[in-house]
Amino acid sequence: MTNVYVDTAVVRIQQYLSRTPTLRGYRSGSAAIKAATAAAVVDPVVAGLAEVNPEAGEADGVVSVWFAASSPPDPAADEAMVRQVQDRLLTHLREHLPAAHLTSVHGYGENYLEAVHQQIKARRAAGEARVDLPPVFEFQAVTRCDVCHTDPAVRWHRVMGDRQRLCQDCTVRNVSLAQTRKQPTDPDPDLARTAEQELRHRLDEDRAPGAGLADPPDTFDELARLGSSGSGRNHLATVFADGNAVGAFFDALATATDPQMQSRKKKVSADLNEATQQALAQATGAVLGDRNILSVVPHVAGGDDLMVTLPAEHAWRFTLTYLSAFAEWMDVAASDLLDTVNAGRAIPLAPISASAGIVISDSSYPFTLVVDAAARMLRQAKRHTRGRTPAVQWLDITTDGHDPAHEPADLAQLRVAAPHLDRLAGVPQAHRNAVGVAHTQAGALTAHTVARRVGDHRLAIEAFLPAGANLDQPEPAGMPLPTALNLVRWWPPS
Ligand SMILES: [Zn+2]
Repeated sequence: MTNVYVDTAVVRIQQYLSRTPTLRGYRSGSAAIKAATAAAVVDPVVAGLAEVNPEAGEADGVVSVWFAASSPPDPAADEAMVRQVQDRLLTHLREHLPAAHLTSVHGYGENYLEAVHQQIKARRAAGEARVDLPPVFEFQAVTRCDVCHTDPAVRWHRVMGDRQRLCQDCTVRNVSLAQTRKQPTDPDPDLARTAEQELRHRLDEDRAPGAGLADPPDTFDELARLGSSGSGRNHLATVFADGNAVGAFFDALATATDPQMQSRKKKVSADLNEATQQALAQATGAVLGDRNILSVVPHVAGGDDLMVTLPAEHAWRFTLTYLSAFAEWMDVAASDLLDTVNAGRAIPLAPISASAGIVISDSSYPFTLVVDAAARMLRQAKRHTRGRTPAVQWLDITTDGHDPAHEPADLAQLRVAAPHLDRLAGVPQAHRNAVGVAHTQAGALTAHTVARRVGDHRLAIEAFLPAGANLDQPEPAGMPLPTALNLVRWWPPS
C-alpha cells in the first residue's frame, strides 16, 4: 500500500530560536514550537484529511502527517489533498510561530523511510518544497518590539513583571513561557514535553522520590554562575551535535528490500531520537554529579540533533560522554540493520555516531553569534573524519576570536589524550604559558628545554611533545602541545 507523507517544518530552527537574545527567549521559543507541533495539537488540525505520522522520530520543529494514496492511483486527487493538508498546517503553524520560516514537502512510499529517502529529500534539494515566509515589515515608522528588536510591536505585555511592547512572535513566546514555568516537568498532558522538560523528566525518574531537580536558571548569567569558583563563573559553552552519515544509512536502508527489515524501518527514526535523548540524559548526569540543579539547558534535542548550553568547564565531560553514549545507543538499536545493509556493499557504511562543535564564550556574548559559530565548528568536526568517526572541533571566542588555530580532534584521540590532559590541567597556568610561548617562538626542541626547567610538571608537558632523541616519534598523548594547551583551558578539574 502506498502512503503519502507530508513533512512541514520550521527552517533553521536554531536561528529562529535566537531571534530573542535571552535564555528565557530561547526556552519560550522551544516551548512554543513544541506546543504547536505536538501530536495532540496537530491531529485535530488535519482531521478528516490526514493523521500524525507515527513513524517520524520527533525531530524538533517538524510536523509529519500521512494519508493513504488513492486506489486506483489518482495523482491529481492526491496532490489536491496534499495542498489542503498543507493549507491547514501552514495556517496553524503561522498562527503559533508568527516569525518562523516554514516549508512543506511531500513524498510517496510504502513507509516513511522510503518516502523521505526516495522523494522528500530530493524534492527539498531541488527547491520543490512549498515555502511560507513571515510577513515583511518595510516601514521604519513602526515601533519595534522591545524583546527581539526585529518586528513591529503589536501590543503591550507583561514580561516577568515589566510592561513591554511585543511583536506577534514574542507575544506567543511570552504566553508559552508562562505555561512552561507553571508546570516545569509535566505540562498539559496533551502537549509534548520541551527538550528541557523531557530531560528533567528522565533525570527525575532516576532520583529518589522528593529529590527532584530544582528549577533551572532563568538567565545565561545565572547559568554561568553554576560553574565552580575556579572557573570565574562567567563563561558558557554551547554544544551542537548531530549524527554522522545518518543520511547515507537511511538511504541504504530505504532501498533495502529484505522483508525482515520492513517493520524495523518504521521504528528506526524513533530509535535515533531515543539515542539522542538517552545520551543527553547520560551526559547531563555526568556533569551534574550529586547537585540537584539542572546546569545543562537543552534548546534542541530531537532526531539526531542536539544543541545545549552549560557552564564552560563542564563542556568537555558533557561532550565526550554524549558522543560515547550516542554511539553505544545506536549500536544497540541499529547494528543488526547496519550488518544487513553492509552485506550487499563493497564499501561498508560506518557505525552510526555523532560529532560535535563546542563554542565557549563570555555569558554576555551575543547568543546568535555563538549559535552561528557552533554550527561552523560542527561542520569542521564532521569534515575532519568525513563523518566516519566521532570528532569534535572547539572554539574559545574570548581568546581565539573567529576561528580556532587547531585541527578538530577525533573521539578516539581525545580518549587517549584524556589522562594526559588531566595531568596537564594540574600544571600551573604560568608554566603552561611559558612552555606555550617557547613552542610558538622556537619550536618543540625549545619547549622540551623549558619543560625540563619546571621540575615536577615536566612529564605532564612532555607527553604532548614529539619523543625520541631526534624528536622523530609522535607525541605520547597523540596530540600536539599547542592544541593541548588550548583545549586544557576548559578541561574539567579532575
Ligand atoms: Zn519580538
